[in-house]
Amino acid sequence: MRWFDGYCEKCGMKVDKKTAPQRFGKYFCSEKHAEEYANDIEKRRKAKPKQKDGEECC
Ligand SMILES: [Zn+2]
Repeated sequence: MRWFDGYCEKCGMKVDKKTAPQRFGKYFCSEKHAEEYANDIEKRRKAKPKQKDGEECC
């Protein structure tokens, strides 16, 4: 038997999938954590260094 509950991606708290806010297919305990997670993703995307195939000298 596999009953999958949702867990807040930010703090790991158990959430009700019916009412929990959702971002990127993940569930969150509150809008605040959903927002924070979204911001984290956004930041990580921007901070991600560009990868080039060629060698790049500093
Ligand atoms: Zn949370």
